[in-house]
Amino acid sequence: MYGVERLKDRMYEVNAMGVALALMDWDQQTNMPSGGAEARAEQVGILSTKLHESLVSDQTRAALGQAEAEAESEDDRALARVVRRELDLATKLPSELVGRKALLATQGHELWMKARKANDYAMFRPILGELVEICKEEAGHLGFTDHPYDALTDQYEEGATAAGWQAMFDGIRQPLVELIEETQLASPIEDGFLVGQWPAEKQASFTWAVIQKLGFRGESGRQDAAPHPFCTNFSVNDVRLTNRYNEVVTSSLYSGLHEAGHGLYEQNSPATWDRTPLAGGVSLGIHESQSRTWENIIGRSRAFWQWCYAPLREAFPALPDVGPEAVYKANCTVKPSLIRVEADEVTYNMHIMVRFELECDMVAGKLDVKDLPEAWNEKYRQYLGIVPETDAVGCMQDVHWSSGSIGYFPTYSMGNVLSYQIWACLQRDLGDTDAMLTRGDFAPILAWLVEKVYRHGSKYKPTELIQRVTGKPLGPEDYLAGITSKYRAVYGLA
Ligand SMILES: [Zn+2]
Repeated sequence: MYGVERLKDRMYEVNAMGVALALMDWDQQTNMPSGGAEARAEQVGILSTKLHESLVSDQTRAALGQAEAEAESEDDRALARVVRRELDLATKLPSELVGRKALLATQGHELWMKARKANDYAMFRPILGELVEICKEEAGHLGFTDHPYDALTDQYEEGATAAGWQAMFDGIRQPLVELIEETQLASPIEDGFLVGQWPAEKQASFTWAVIQKLGFRGESGRQDAAPHPFCTNFSVNDVRLTNRYNEVVTSSLYSGLHEAGHGLYEQNSPATWDRTPLAGGVSLGIHESQSRTWENIIGRSRAFWQWCYAPLREAFPALPDVGPEAVYKANCTVKPSLIRVEADEVTYNMHIMVRFELECDMVAGKLDVKDLPEAWNEKYRQYLGIVPETDAVGCMQDVHWSSGSIGYFPTYSMGNVLSYQIWACLQRDLGDTDAMLTRGDFAPILAWLVEKVYRHGSKYKPTELIQRVTGKPLGPEDYLAGITSKYRAVYGLA
């Protein structure tokens, strides 16, 4: 059998177990009764170990070796390269550690939910301490030269390092601080009319209709309710989004646009690569650049609201007829707040800087989990000028650390920065995108993104893809130019 075919067969098996785990996770977050948690944690632990064993097995190694020797096409070589990276990463981690982490992560998640609800950091602290220790252990196995964080963050964003992230944040921090200050001194924007009693079913159907209008294939996807919006997929033709519904009429629309941005990337991966490691988004940062594009650059534009205002009013007749401009501006208010997932586009990266710095200190052993709430609050005071009154809205607000995901947060900021860099190229190629958005004509925009980004799946390394699409490495210029001109205009600043 040809080596590449043999390798694909191996990867289909690994994929099947990965999909089973993803489906169990989707179920846990949408449907599972809380009583199911304990058994589920054990099952996830066992299956994660099996997946890891299958990936690092002699059969995979033999198939990969043969594929590397025989691969002739660019795609086949790319497949071998991607599997080699996965295998190398996985080989460095003992199966025992992988199973232990998966079990601890599931328990951590359940405990975090309880502790957050009770606003009881002491309840969460011991398991968080264990999770930080296991991350340090992981970093030790994976290896690093400068900082243990490098080993952890590279798992989410190939090639990323603590120093690289630091440089990215250094490039945007001061201009953002100034923009936040300016907007806070300007006269506030009226957004109170967005708040009301909007039926959840109506919010769900409105969002679903808009998402499909963007080009998301409804027959190959779903939207379900969950406490935290996310996107997961089991094949290119089964892409699941979740959403949650609250008293701000456009809140679920924006969560929906965000997750649909992830979903569009996944749905437009080449079908021939389905269930292989070449399918789907290449890295978290690049993935996030797409969710941010649809959520912020498109969804939070004046042109989008010129189109979307009529459907919004039709879905929610009780909404006062304030006009598209008022709805646009109301969705672009800037206000330092405590909760990352509710943060506006301008303050968002400040939330990430806080987390990035604390994560670095925790894995370097400079910050003990017992001192985390205090350190968190101090950074919020410094960066956003506000201090959380409780740990539930402070250091316990995010899900990531509860499952031992350290090194993940900076990819959100990378997504913000990269979304504008890619969009600048899209605009150069397509011309008047505002005219398209005003008509609700998303097809040319989606087609460009498919051609330049989505159809390449994981074929190119993230840094290589950025260079191919934008002609330069990741940099802050387009992001700062875009966000500054947009928000200065929104706030009527000269
Ligand atoms: Zn996202």
